[in-house]
Amino acid sequence: MKPVQSELKRWMEQNENFQENYNRVRQEVLGDPEIKEFLAAHPELTRNEVDKSLIKLHEYKTQSKQCDRCKSFGSCVNMLQGYSPILHVEDNEIHLSYEKCHSRRDYERQQSQQKLIKSLYMPKEIMQATIADIDSDPERSDAIRQLVHFVGQVQEKGLPKKGIYFYGPFGVGKTYFLGALANKLKEINISSTLIYMPEFVREIKASFKDDSINDKIDYFKKADVLMLDDIGAELHSAWFRDEILGSILQYRMMEGLPVFFTSNYSMDQLEGHLATTRGGVEEVKAGRIMERIKQVSKEVLISGDNRRDY
Ligand code: ADP
Ligand code: MG
Repeated sequence: MKPVQSELKRWMEQNENFQENYNRVRQEVLGDPEIKEFLAAHPELTRNEVDKSLIKLHEYKTQSKQCDRCKSFGSCVNMLQGYSPILHVEDNEIHLSYEKCHSRRDYERQQSQQKLIKSLYMPKEIMQATIADIDSDPERSDAIRQLVHFVGQVQEKGLPKKGIYFYGPFGVGKTYFLGALANKLKEINISSTLIYMPEFVREIKASFKDDSINDKIDYFKKADVLMLDDIGAELHSAWFRDEILGSILQYRMMEGLPVFFTSNYSMDQLEGHLATTRGGVEEVKAGRIMERIKQVSKEVLISGDNRRDY
C-alpha cells in the first residue's frame, strides 16, 4: 500500500499545477481586448458567471472573427470551417454561438452562381470569358453592341423574348461571345444552358437507353436562356430537326423565352442546310424550323480574324 502521505503530496502538486494553469488561462482570457470590451458592455455579469464561462470565453478568444485571421474560406483556421464566433448574454448568462463568416457567404454565393450556368461540353476558356475581354475591333463592334443591349434590356425589364443568332466564319469568337454573355447573366442571377449542337444530338440519342429523353427535352424547353452553339454542325437527322429541335423551339417561341445560336451559316444558308437530311430534301420542314429560329432570335454577323491563329 502506498503511503497516504505521498499520494496526498502528488495530488497537491498536480492540483497546484492545475491552479497555476487555470490562473494563467484566466488572466489571458480576461486580458484579451475583445473579451474586455464584451465584459465592460455587460456589467451585470457576476464574477461567478464569468468564471463558469471561462471555457467559452477561451474558445471565443482562440477563433478567427469574421475572417480577421484567414485569407479565404479554404484557409479558415476555425474549428467550424467558415463560422465565426459571437458572444452574447441571455438571462445573465454568457452564450457562445457561431454565424457564417464573410468568406463562407462569398463562397456559397459563388457556388450557387456557378450552378446558374449549365454548360455541356464547353471548353474552360469559354466558361471564363467576359464581355470586358472581347476586343472591340470594328468588325466585332456591332455584335458587342447587340450583346450589351441585350444585357441592358435584361437589367431594365427582364428577359427579352428574342436572343441573338451570331453567325460568321470559323474562329472569330462566336462561342466566346456566348460564354461571356452567360457569365454576365450569372451576375444578374439568370441561368443559361449552353450546349454544343453535335453533343446535344448525341446526348439526346443516348438518353433513349435510360428513358430520360422527355426530361431532357423539358429541361431545354424551360431553361431561362438557351444557347445552342454551332447549329448546322450536327448530324443531319430529320428526326432530331423536327421532333427535338422543332418542339423545343416551338415551346420557347410560345413562351417568349430567348434562344442564342452560333453558326458558321447565315439564316438563309442554314435553311438550305436544315432541308438536306439523309431522308432527302425537305424544304417545308426546314422552313418551319427557320420560322421558329427567327421568332426566338435576331441575326447578327460577327466577322474578323480567325482568333485560333493567335
Ligand atoms: P468560333 O466559335 O467563332 O469558332 P471561338 O469562340 O471558339 O470561335 O474562338 C476561337 C478562339 O479564340 C478560342 O480559343 C477563344 O477562346 C478565342 N477568343 C475568341 N474571342 C476572344 C477574345 N475576345 N479574347 C480572347 N480570346 C478570344
Ligand atoms: Mg464556336
